Order: sequence, then structure tokens, then C-alpha cells
Amino acid sequence: MEFDYSEHDEGRGFSYWEADPVLRDEVERVYDEDEHDWGAERLAEFGRLVGEEVVDNSDAIDDNPPELRTYDKHGEVVNEVDYPPEQEENDRIAFENGAVADSFRAPPERDEPMPLTHSLAHYYLIAYCDIGLGCSVSMTGGAALVLEQADEKDRHDDTFDALTARDLEDLEQGAMFLTEIQGGSDVGANETIAEPTDEEGVYELTGEKWFCSNIDAGAPLVLARRPDAPEGTDGLSLFHVPREVDGEDNDLYYRRLKDKLGTKSVPTGEVELRGATGYLVGEPERGFKYMTEMLNYERVTNAVGSCGSMARALVESKVHAADREAFGSAIEEFPLMKKDLVDMTVTHEAATALSFDAADALNGYVRDEDDEAYRLMRAIVPVAKYRTGEDAVEMASYAMEILGGNGYVEEFPTARLLRDAQVTPIWEGTSNILSLDVLRSMQKEAAHEVVLNRIDDYLDEAEHPAVVPVADRVREERDELEETMHDVAASGMDGAQLRAKDLADFIYDVYAAAVLVAEAQREAEEGEGRKTVVARRFVDNHLDEGRITDETPLERFDVIAKYESVGIDEVTDEKLQRAD
Ligand SMILES: Cc1cc2nc3c(=O)[nH]c(=O)nc-3n(C[C@H](O)[C@H](O)[C@H](O)COP(=O)(O)OP(=O)(O)OC[C@H]3O[C@@H](n4cnc5c(N)ncnc54)[C@H](O)[C@@H]3O)c2cc1C
Repeated sequence: MEFDYSEHDEGRGFSYWEADPVLRDEVERVYDEDEHDWGAERLAEFGRLVGEEVVDNSDAIDDNPPELRTYDKHGEVVNEVDYPPEQEENDRIAFENGAVADSFRAPPERDEPMPLTHSLAHYYLIAYCDIGLGCSVSMTGGAALVLEQADEKDRHDDTFDALTARDLEDLEQGAMFLTEIQGGSDVGANETIAEPTDEEGVYELTGEKWFCSNIDAGAPLVLARRPDAPEGTDGLSLFHVPREVDGEDNDLYYRRLKDKLGTKSVPTGEVELRGATGYLVGEPERGFKYMTEMLNYERVTNAVGSCGSMARALVESKVHAADREAFGSAIEEFPLMKKDLVDMTVTHEAATALSFDAADALNGYVRDEDDEAYRLMRAIVPVAKYRTGEDAVEMASYAMEILGGNGYVEEFPTARLLRDAQVTPIWEGTSNILSLDVLRSMQKEAAHEVVLNRIDDYLDEAEHPAVVPVADRVREERDELEETMHDVAASGMDGAQLRAKDLADFIYDVYAAAVLVAEAQREAEEGEGRKTVVARRFVDNHLDEGRITDETPLERFDVIAKYESVGIDEVTDEKLQRAD
């Protein structure tokens, strides 16, 4: 049964899983059957907890965010972050429901861990109301992944166990300290030094880190340079710098917390390493490679989280549009509002489809060591992170407008939604840096070949007469994308960089359209036509130039914006805007 927006006053107080058929579809698509049998029930319960409890806790934390106590009244260094009580409740809900643990160790009633996509689905739900909480969850999973990938579980097995603990009392959270004042994007400019001690693999780290989220995490990973190591990223090694060593505070000094626009529930600050004890992770001078593993994971979480944030903006908008009356009727009755809600729904649906594909590719590479999945992930992860971050900001901003004047007031959810979303294009790499990463993936891994093949595979699935014309239209764009890729590759360093962001957008649009086509075909086989309508609308909006003038938002409002079912036969004769 569809979700009835008019029954609610606000986009909270109900299960976000139940209210979100797009997430449910994607989970079903990318999980194996047995994973889905086990996981869907857990996500349903988690979605309820987020929609009914985390959501209120997060508002309370935002009003009373964590604070740093640097010194006590006697001038002694205290170096502690004080949290409001709701933070522990949210941490407990997230970690004890397996948001990290289930993807790294076999959860109850299973012999194997769940795929990384399961952790990411939790992250999506968390992002409905707290990207800050999502940040600590994601960095804890990311740190565990680095230790798992660097074959370091044996040397750091206690840390791995603590990062993947289900029980809050046994848990250590993760963090990554890369950015220094002289370089965030330019990580190779890092100056923090790691001096070896007499004990093998143990170092003393000295330097300053400029942006450290989850600052007081028990198990941060830190990049630093050993003496005589080369300059740039090739000279960086990775260290586990625990908050405590043998029960004593490590020599980490928290200088101050940043007074941030949003994501206030996760304390972000500046850290001085004053000869802090650090344990080498993996091989020396390969730190940037290991950290890249974590960054890939963080970037997918960012993409999936941006989709969760969009989902919240959508549900708030739809509830408000169903309830609010102006000029004698609910505002969702007005054509322009129908168009707004239809196109926001389509944007979110395409973003979620592409992001879960990126998540699945990352999982395939990490868990199955699949080279093709690696190459796909290399291109699709930066594309997804870049575009979904931008879309999340735009969607939160427009949701604010849909709530009218109230939307601009802090007591309503859209103000924080926008403040929080605004970080998604910045951290884990800005949009420019990610677009350049797409170019790098094409040059180094020929990732574009795998992207084009995957688009072809999706389009080749189309068989139903309602879906084939959409696939044919996307295929035209796919051929143009291939040409553009070659042009960019041949256009010299500056020329290629100049076009990198446009190329990332083009890849995003064609790839997302292809996934939607495949989803439309699968639904059509069961007699359902909704995804076909969504795929058409996405193609009309994103792959065709000029302004769209058709009446889909009026005719198919309930189907698209309210996820109502429609028979495939009923929509077979409807056309794409640009006649075939
Ligand atoms: C809330 C928050 C939390 C954070 N948490 C962490 C954390 O936990 N750990 C951590 O290590 N870092 C963290 N960061 C830092 C973040 O990752 C960096 O701020 C970000 O990567 C950008 O780096 P920068 O600030 O040095 O900006 P710069 O690198 O100086 O970039 C400034 C501008 O220049 C552009 N630019 C740079 N190089 C190029 C280029 N080659 N071509 C075109 N444009 C370019 C960028 O796109 C950007 O618009 C956090 C940041 C924020 C805001």
C-alpha cells in the first residue's frame, strides 16, 4: 500500500523504510536473495527507529551540540568532548543495530557478514535526519575496511574488533586525519612527521591536522611522513593513532572545534600531534593507497547519504504539499507544484539507483576482488559523490521553499537539512577534485570502457515495447558520450580538466538513465509501468535539450510522486517528449 502523505503533519514519526519504496527497490536489486531475506526485516526496524527516535534526538543534539573542554579550572589539559545525552542514544541505535558490524562480521543467524551495501543502506536511512551521525558511522566502517584491506587484521586485530563491535561498550569509533592547513585536496602537501621508535612499527607523530571529524574517536587513522620519505603522496604512510595507549591519553591535543554551519552532532576540530604514539598500518610509504580505500568508501557513503538527505527533503515537501492549503485547495493540486514534486522524485530516484550501483561495484571489488567492479567503481564513485552532493543541496534548498516562510525557520526541519546537506559537496573531495578523479580513472584504469559496457548491458535488457523506445533514446546519448570521452582524452591536460565536470555530468545522466531503463524492464515483466514513466521523465529532463512542455506532471502525478502503481499496458503508448 502506498504511503499517505496527507495523514501526517511532518515528515517524521513514521518508518522511513516504509515511506521509501525507492530504497526498498534498490536494496532488493543489489542484495542477493538470502541477504535480502535476512536484511530487509532489519532495515525495516532500523528505518522505524530512525524515523521515530533518531530524528528527535538529532534535533536535540543540533540545539545543544558537543562541546570541547580543553582545560580544567586549574589549567590542566582536559581534552574531552562533552556530548548531550541524546548522542549516546543515537550511537546505540546506530551501532547496536549493526550499521557497521553486520558488514564486517557474521551477524546473528548468518554465517557470513552482510555486503558493504547493507552498511550503506543504514547510512542512507541515518541521513534522513543526521549526516553528522552518519559521518561517525561511516568513518568507523571506513577505518575497519582499511584494516581489512591492508591485510592488517592480525597486527591490528584488537582495533578491528573494536571498530566492528556491536556492543557500544566494546566499540571504538574511527576517524581519518588527512587535511592540514596547507592542503585538503592536495594531501601530498602533508607535513606531519613520523619518527621511528626502538619498537618495530611504532612511531612518534608530530604535526597539526586542520579538519578532524569525530575528533575524539578511539581509533583514528592518520597520514604522516617518515624521515627521508619522498615528497608528495608517495612519501605518506598510514598510522593508527589511538586516543589512549596502555590506558593513558595519547599525545593528541584538541585545539578547538570548528564552529560549523551544520553536521553539528559530529565534532570536527583541529588536532595537534605532540609526539603521539602511532602504529604503522601496512607497508610504509603506501599510506595514501590505503587511505584511498577509505576515501572510496566514504565517497560512496556520501553519495548514498546525499540520497537519504534528498529523501527527507522529498517527504517533508510531499507531506507539506498534501496538507497546506492556499487559494482554496491543497498546494499539491497546483500544476507547478505537481511538476516540482514529480521532478524532485525523479531526481532522487535516479540518484539512488546510480548510487546503489556504485555501492554494489565497491562491494564487488572489495569482497570479491572483481577487477571489472574495481574499474567501474573507480569512475562511478566520484561521479556519484559529485552529482548527488550537488543535488542534495539543491533539493534541500527547494524543499525549504516548498515549506514557504516556515521552511526558513529553524524550528522546521528544512533549515538544518540545508545546513547539513551543504557539506556533502565539500568533504571527501570537492566537486572539482572528484571530476578530475573521473579523468584519472579513465587515464589509469580505462574505467570509461567498463562504464560504457555496463550502460550497454542495462540498455540491452529492454524488451518490452514500452521500454524499448526509452532504451533507444538513451543509446543515442551513450554513443555521443563515447565520442565525448574520446574528445576529452584527446584534448590535452588543460582542455580535459576544463571539461571534466561536464563529462562527469554526462556520464551521470546516461548511466542513471540506463539503470532506470533496466529497472523499468524488470517491472514491465511483472506488468508494472511506474518505472517506465520515471525513466521517460528522467530522459526528457536530462538527456534532451530545451524546455519540456508535456503534461506528465499532471497526468502521472500520483504514479510518480506518490509511487502509485500503473499497468504497463496503460503507459505503453505514451511517448518520450522528443518523438521517436
Ligand atoms: C565539516 C567538515 C569536516 C571535515 N572532516 C575532515 C576529516 O575528518 N578529515 C580530513 O582529513 N578532512 C576533513 N575535512 C576537510 C575536507 O576534506 C577538505 O576541506 C576538502 O577536501 C577541501 O580541501 P581544502 O579545504 O584544503 O580546500 P582546497 O583544497 O584549498 O580547495 C579550495 C577550492 O579549490 C578547488 N581546487 C583545488 N584544487 C583544484 C584543482 N586542481 N582544480 C580545480 N579546482 C581545485 C576546490 O575544488 C575548492 O573549491 C572536513 C571538512 C569539513 C568542511
